[in-house]
Amino acid sequence: MAPDVDVCKKCADNFVVSSKFVQCKVCNVKLHTSCASLKDSWQKVLTDCKNIFWMCDPCKNSFSVGGNENRAAVEILKKEIECVNREKTLTDKLLSEVQYTNELQKALLKQLEDKIASLENTKHLKYNEAVKSATQMSVKKRESTPVLLVKSKNDRTSNDDVMKDVIQSINPADLNVCISATRKIKNGIAIHCETKSFDVLKSNLSASLGKKYSINEPQKLNPRFLISDVPSKCGDSPEVLVNNIVLLNDLANVLKSEDDIKFITKLNRLQDTDVVIEVAPYLYNLLMQRGFLYVGWKKCYITDYVRVKRCFKCCGLGHLDKDCTAQVCCPKCCGDHKLKECKSDCIKCSNCTNYNKSFKQNVPTDHKATSFDCPLYKNYLDKLKQNINYG
Ligand SMILES: [Zn+2]
Ligand SMILES: [Zn+2]
Ligand SMILES: [Zn+2]
Ligand SMILES: [Zn+2]
Ligand SMILES: [Zn+2]
Repeated sequence: MAPDVDVCKKCADNFVVSSKFVQCKVCNVKLHTSCASLKDSWQKVLTDCKNIFWMCDPCKNSFSVGGNENRAAVEILKKEIECVNREKTLTDKLLSEVQYTNELQKALLKQLEDKIASLENTKHLKYNEAVKSATQMSVKKRESTPVLLVKSKNDRTSNDDVMKDVIQSINPADLNVCISATRKIKNGIAIHCETKSFDVLKSNLSASLGKKYSINEPQKLNPRFLISDVPSKCGDSPEVLVNNIVLLNDLANVLKSEDDIKFITKLNRLQDTDVVIEVAPYLYNLLMQRGFLYVGWKKCYITDYVRVKRCFKCCGLGHLDKDCTAQVCCPKCCGDHKLKECKSDCIKCSNCTNYNKSFKQNVPTDHKATSFDCPLYKNYLDKLKQNINYG
């Protein structure tokens, strides 16, 4: 504390070397300790302790004059400190909550991963068990349908003749068979009956009419599934592919006949290929339950495959353009032009429009003929599925 004012502010006397003095922290004036009413030892205390300071009376007074203002400022500062502290507490709390949530999510993720792993595991186990039990199952369950077809072996017999013969040969009341309906089909009739009556009906009809007519259940088609993204080299030869599937998926002992798994077609895409396979119902259920097949170097997912033929020329269902005999029809507006020539903003389905006209119906037509939501398309798809034996 080098003196830069030479005289004591109070007594105006000079300072000598031995003089004890204090200096005002604010205005730097110097006073003898005695003039400041302080003990001499204060000089050392004030020199040594940086956080203790002394102020001269005028400075002290000037502070008290603005005291209210300062006190207010201090209060504000206190409040601010309080706020900051509260914010800190809040932030800490939030932070810990975030960490908690984070932990929770990690745990949840772990739980999900475990679940998936165990599911994969049980699926695998289930598949193995199913393969085993399918291997042991030797008695083939008759896949009964409550429809019996009576068809003439002679093309020229009318279905009225067939009906007459059937009525003459059996009497439902005598046999106690419950028949729900009969309908005419090409060269014969179809008899819809209750499941419990099927065997009796079939054996009696076969006994009395078997020589002249064929008496059979309608042949349902085997189900097909699509194997997605088969690596192209596996799809090169159908035999290799099927063989590959049989071996990699433990099907060798399950197959009851070689015909139970058939390659149908492959649908080439950019890199990989989708492959359509037809299988017997028991195989279909076994494999669809698992949802995938090992094919070559890959696990490929499988989905049910039923395709409605759609004509690109007339937009009709059930045939392809190469077999089409109808007029060109726009799939968007139902006009007699190709899609690329279409200038209409109207959206109208030709199939539903024709259906409404023919059957005096009122199904919605405000969709494209190519829509998968088209009610006629859906209906057609359902009919196709009814013809498939899902076991
Ligand atoms: Zn003095
Ligand atoms: Zn001062
Ligand atoms: Zn067509
Ligand atoms: Zn058009
Ligand atoms: Zn439609």
